Amino acid sequence: MKIVMCASEAVPFAKTGGLADVAGALPLALEKLKEEVIVIMPKYKSVSHSGATIGKDVKVYFIENNKYFNRPGLYGEKTGDYPDNLERFSYFSKSALELLKKIDYKADIIHCHDWQSGLVPVYLKTLYKDKPFYKKMKTALTIHNIGYQGVFGKEEFPKLGLDWSLFNMEALEYYGKINFLKGGIAFSDIINTVSPTYSQAIMTREQGFGMDGLLRKRRESVFGILNGLDYDLWDPAKDKFLAKKYSADSLKDKLANKAALQKECGLPAEEEIPLFGFVGRLAEQKGIDILEKVLRRIYQLGIQVVILGTGDQEYHVLLEEAAVKYPRQIRLYLKFDDALAHRIYSGCDVFLMPSRYEPCGLGQLISFKYGTAVVASKTGGLADTVVDFDPIGQQGNGFVFENYSREGLLEAMLRAALAFHDKKIWDALIARCAGLDFSWQESAKRYIELYKKAIKG
Ligand code: ADP
Repeated sequence: MKIVMCASEAVPFAKTGGLADVAGALPLALEKLKEEVIVIMPKYKSVSHSGATIGKDVKVYFIENNKYFNRPGLYGEKTGDYPDNLERFSYFSKSALELLKKIDYKADIIHCHDWQSGLVPVYLKTLYKDKPFYKKMKTALTIHNIGYQGVFGKEEFPKLGLDWSLFNMEALEYYGKINFLKGGIAFSDIINTVSPTYSQAIMTREQGFGMDGLLRKRRESVFGILNGLDYDLWDPAKDKFLAKKYSADSLKDKLANKAALQKECGLPAEEEIPLFGFVGRLAEQKGIDILEKVLRRIYQLGIQVVILGTGDQEYHVLLEEAAVKYPRQIRLYLKFDDALAHRIYSGCDVFLMPSRYEPCGLGQLISFKYGTAVVASKTGGLADTVVDFDPIGQQGNGFVFENYSREGLLEAMLRAALAFHDKKIWDALIARCAGLDFSWQESAKRYIELYKKAIKG
């Protein structure tokens, strides 16, 4: 099968979130299964390679356009989204299709991701419909987060080069505006999200962000495949950022990383204090509102917390207040720092994912590999992967709360801290975490099945 991965970001070239991890890792797993894959992405300013590869052999093609992509950010900067994102990503989508012709790559399937490449299926089924070269190509669209849809004013429609007849409720129009993701959902042969539970969630009013009606209509074509984790990037046994490398068989050495992290964070280096970590976007989706409220009472908990993230200014301020108030318990880093993220996953005892909603979530999968238990809300991919600790049956890999609330989170954190203090129980718990396998191979097999479905029609 000839597969094209069409993505606005991919590890190791450009990353703002989980989408980049998927677009970088899935091609490698597909290649291992003997499929032919290429990747197409924009050439941002930060991308220094050209004509590069992912792994040894997966070719990456960069769409170059200095006016659109030679900028510091991918989609925007501190001041907000770039005002010409409609032009930038419609250009990207169309150029990706043009490129296929240029390199004579007759794809069986073009796998698009999120709104940024949501126009690929639209163009393919309209402007390119009658071109023989493209005739047999099918599309799959993965929705990594339905909260981001690429919405633009109607007045920009002529820039898309599409017929005005497409500006209707069945296609690109959503409440008088242009919606890229909606176009992708309407025109793609197959739609999927990054976990089974989330694929159901987006068909509900509560979590569909307005797309639920259209998705329900296309129910037969909507699927959920859990993301895998790239164990070449995330493995404590070969992680160059750690104070001490370790594996599932030498989890005792994780303690050296805890001590190093406490030291780095300026927190009392005490083994007996449970250390909680958070790495992620500081956005409402990630549950920062309830986390911040719990942190205000951290003095009652006897725990330490290290937080790494960037995002909404209001959360920067609130978290900073808490960190200033409790310098011996909270350390806050308001930045993006991959190396530090690795040290947090390995150094903490418990990783926090109190998300309001979570399509898949990589943090919990990374944590497991590093022998770190997880506190999580029961939603989306977290519901599919984090199993609540059962002290009697000695099962589970984390601490789950069902009702999204400060009380729910607090209760789960307290249960985690309690379990931590029983050394025997804790060692067994983190051994179970480290023994889990969420590698890409299984997910890649499911994607191949999905591509075949799209091709069959
Ligand atoms: P999302 O894609 O919704 O942001 P995921 O959990 O799916 O969330 O993926 C987030 C990825 O980005 C993880 O690999 C996480 O470690 C990484 N990440 C997020 N914020 C930061 C940060 N401030 N510094 C380093 N890595 C980060």
